[in-house]
Order: sequence, then structure tokens, then C-alpha cells
Amino acid sequence: MTNSELKKNWKKVLDNSPSDKINKVKIDQWYKPLVPVRIDEEAGVIYFVSDDSSPVLRNMINTNYGIIKEPLSSVFGKEYRLELVEDEGKPEHVDEFGEEYVDSRYTFDSFVSGPNNRLALACSLAIAERFTPDYNPLFIYGGSGLGKTHLLAAISHYVKEKNPEKKVLYVTTEAFTNELVKAIRENSTAAFHDKYRKVDILLLDDIQFIADKERTQEEVFNTFNALHAANKQVVLSSDKPPKELRDLPERLISRFSQGMIADIQPPDYETRMAILQQKVEEKGLAIDKNMADVIDLIAQNITDNIRDLEGALTRVITMANFGNTELTKEFARGVLSDIFKIKDREINAFNIKKSVAEFFGLKVSDLEGSKRTREIVYPRQVAIYLIRKHTNLSLPQIGKEFGDRDHTTIMHSCEKIENELLNNESLKEKISLIEKQLGS
Ligand code: ADP
Ligand code: MG
Repeated sequence: MTNSELKKNWKKVLDNSPSDKINKVKIDQWYKPLVPVRIDEEAGVIYFVSDDSSPVLRNMINTNYGIIKEPLSSVFGKEYRLELVEDEGKPEHVDEFGEEYVDSRYTFDSFVSGPNNRLALACSLAIAERFTPDYNPLFIYGGSGLGKTHLLAAISHYVKEKNPEKKVLYVTTEAFTNELVKAIRENSTAAFHDKYRKVDILLLDDIQFIADKERTQEEVFNTFNALHAANKQVVLSSDKPPKELRDLPERLISRFSQGMIADIQPPDYETRMAILQQKVEEKGLAIDKNMADVIDLIAQNITDNIRDLEGALTRVITMANFGNTELTKEFARGVLSDIFKIKDREINAFNIKKSVAEFFGLKVSDLEGSKRTREIVYPRQVAIYLIRKHTNLSLPQIGKEFGDRDHTTIMHSCEKIENELLNNESLKEKISLIEKQLGS
């Protein structure tokens, strides 16, 4: 069985696995991250690698074997044991001259658009629909986990569906390099050239890895020129814009910059929520009040990587299913605090009072009470100021938080601190320490 058959079969196993809620979550969590690298038909073992090499994963693959046993034996013809092995430098992820695995879930339909990715999405769609000389190449850049691979894969799926006669080739720069090395070793560079020059659309992912690989640079340069001259589309992705790719020869940088450059920025809160909502729906779950709170918690805490956003969601859902626990915000907070720096507290009036009281060695009730000694009045004013600054509470509402004080008192406190902040460095520092503590 070739590597590409192995991958296709494994995908079939996943596609045919149970699709009820709980099992689907388990499949997503434990089996989807596995990449099959080798099959030993005699011994009856399929070997996998995974980005997540935790013992938990290893354990879960076996514990949950029952779920995929049936599709596995029906696709592969008999039962296989699954074994997770150390990453072997990844060359085996890729077929000799076949195509790399492109995640079937990465489509335009499943890509949530936001102000952060609008341009990259629009350009990708334009290219998927028709050859666009102005966008040749399209160079998409952005931080890790922001959807670059998703967009490249979406182009590939779209074209394959709408224009099956077109040859689309998705390849990571790493795989491209490995293939090249192999071709050189086996004296098959002609076949290598051939493969890359006869495509209609070349999607080259993570081009930043080309730095300090001179032979690969050379090859990319030549491939690019050949495709460009033949009006074939090239799409590149990178974690940086072309001119910031260090150690890259100028001629490559100028090639990469001669078409369209589109960036992807971290998503804003609303886009993060939209993405999470979609992922919940993809899992076949409903967004009730609890779920809405949970995704809000995740969206507030994980801001610059969509992969992490998704990972957090999958994890809380899985953990709740395992423990047969209700998925609430508190539960999610507990689960996620292990992995992410979840802000322990929301920024609300109570938490601000609590932080200020802690900072000044007082009790919350001191701040709320009526004592007017300087030791208390000053921290009270700081708390009032911070609540005004960080919440949407009105002056009378803030008054209520402090033993029903009059709104003019509240206003006076805010003004006093604001004025003092203009030239009191030590107060500034105290406030910023408290704010840090609050996680703002
Ligand atoms: P990158 O290649 O930029 O590191 P990926 O394309 O691998 O990031 O995206 C990481 C994860 O986030 C993937 O599971 C992908 O589906 C998801 N993702 C990224 N952007 C979006 C988006 N706009 N809408 C939906 N899912 C997204
Ligand atoms: Mg990627």
C-alpha cells in the first residue's frame, strides 16, 4: 500500500466512523490529529505521528479503539493495531510523487470571514474561480494558526470540485524540500521538475522555511518562473511578508512581491465568537446559554491563534463528555486554566474591589463601608476609578457598589484620581499593577 493509499484509507476510516455527538468529539480529539506514516500489513500495525505527542493521546488512541474498530477493519480488510511513533523528520508524511494530504474540512464554506482576513479570503476566492494574472503570485502572510493553510486547502478543494480537469497541487515547503532531496539522491530531478511544472495551480505553504536552503530556493525560483511564464497560478503562504524573509535572495523576494500580497491578522472578538460558534455547530452541538458562556470565556482569553481557540473548545467539550459533567463556564475555566493563562477573573465591579482591597491589605467590606480614614478613602477612590474605567456601570450603579454612595461622590473620586495620575508616578505604577493583576 502506498503512502497515499494509506492516507486515503485512513481518511475513509475517519469519514465512516460513528457520527453521534460524543463519539464525533472523541474522533476529532484523538484520531483526527494522527497522520499515518507507515503500515505493516504482516504485523497488522499502522504507525502514526502527531503534533501532539502527549502520553494522554497515546493512551486515548487505545482506550477508544472500540469506536473506530469497525470502519478500520472494513476499510483495511482486517483489524490493525494503531501505534503512535516519534516524528521521523516527516519525509514520510508525503508521498513520493503523489499529493500531500489536504484536510477535507478546510473549505471556503467553513472559513469564517472577518475584517482580519477579508482581503486574503477575497483574493483566494478570486483565484479559485479563475486565473488572476494580477494576483500571480498571491502571497498570503500571517501568524501561526490564523488560517493560511485553511485558505490554501480551500482553493485546492474548490478548484478540484468546480474544474476537475485543472491540476492543483498543494505542498508544504518542507515536503517540497524533502522531495527535492530525495530526487537529487535518486537522480530523478527531471521527474521532479516535470511534476511541478505541469500544474495549473501551485499552492506552496509555509515558504518561510526556504530560508537558508539554497538548493530549494533555486528550485522554487525556477519553478516559479516556469509557471509564471506559462500563466499558471502560484499561491504562497508565509508567516512574514516577503521583505521580512531574512536570508532570502533579492530575486526571490522580488518574485514573491510582484503579484498580490494579503495579510491575515489576529481576529477581533466578534470574529473569534463567530468562529467558535461555527465550530460548535460543526460538532453538531447546540449553543445554549451555557455554551454561549463557554465560548465567550474562550474568545476572551485566547486572542491570537485560531488553532488554540479551536483546541480549547474541543478540549472542554471532550472533558465534559468524559466526566459526564455539565459543560458550564466554571467547568471550562477549570479545564482551561491548566493549558492557557485563563484570566482568573472577569473584570467586573466585584473583582476590581477584590483586587484593590488585596493590593492595599484591606477587605472588600472596608471599601464598601462608611469609614473615612485616609487608609480606606484612598483605596476606595482607586477602586471607584478603576470600575469607572473598566466597566460600563453608570455613576449611580457604581454608587450602589459602595454602600449606596451618591453619584456626585463617585464622580468626585474619579476626578480626583484622574488628576493625581497626571503627575503622580507612584500612583500610576500602583494602578498598573492592579490592572495587571486583573488581567487587563
Ligand atoms: P496557519 O496555516 O495560518 O497556521 P491554519 O490554516 O492551520 O493556520 O488554521 C488553524 C486552525 O484554525 C484550522 O483548524 C483552521 O480551520 C482554523 N481557522 C483559521 N482561520 C479560520 C477562519 N477564518 N474560520 C474558520 N476556521 C479557521
Ligand atoms: Mg499552516
